[in-house]
Amino acid sequence: MSSLPNSLKNVSLFLERLPGIGEKTANRLAFFLLNLPEEDLKEFAENVATLKLKTKLCKKCFNFTEEELCEICQDKKRDQSMVCVVETVLDLLSFEQGRIYNGVYHVLHGKIDPLNRMGPEDIKIRELLNRIRTASAPPSPKWLRRPSKASAVKEIILATNPDMEGEATAMFIKNKLEEVKKLTGSRVNELKITRLAYGLPMGANLEYADYMTLKKAIEGRNKF
Ligand SMILES: [Zn+2]
Repeated sequence: MSSLPNSLKNVSLFLERLPGIGEKTANRLAFFLLNLPEEDLKEFAENVATLKLKTKLCKKCFNFTEEELCEICQDKKRDQSMVCVVETVLDLLSFEQGRIYNGVYHVLHGKIDPLNRMGPEDIKIRELLNRIRTASAPPSPKWLRRPSKASAVKEIILATNPDMEGEATAMFIKNKLEEVKKLTGSRVNELKITRLAYGLPMGANLEYADYMTLKKAIEGRNKF
């Protein structure tokens, strides 16, 4: 590393701070950047320089966006009555890449994890409850505009990870939603709370599946 000129060494040392990147890979990436056309490098540097300035959280679902609302929340073709609750934007992207879901999301930006001092107040649970309350508020008097039916949330899909913290987070949200259902008007009472199915990954072999996965798979079996 000491034999590298300072500018190259600085880039490499920065890249080494990225997750999963060791010294050798950092050097390789720095050399790759050095060989890129000047214009590409300038564009990349500009994007990095304005990354924090331009990127903010969607006011509704907390996905990343450059506007008030993210593309998904703005999309009129998406089913706004179905909200999938995920831990991170990366989880949201996994659903989006598969194009398997046409509802909207709510990103928690974490999970309840007492060992890492993450409590319910540190993630976007309060915001989710407010969103449900607002979207499902009882109809206003006739002389006011009634909230459109499309804005009412009918189903919450709890899509936190099936690990200990993810399960605890899902359970916490479920209990809070049940409280909201009891406290508010009839429209919230219709709210369905679901959890992603547990089971075996595609191509899995039963012989190698662990006990908990098999237990969850048999509990969540479907009519065939
Ligand atoms: Zn959004």
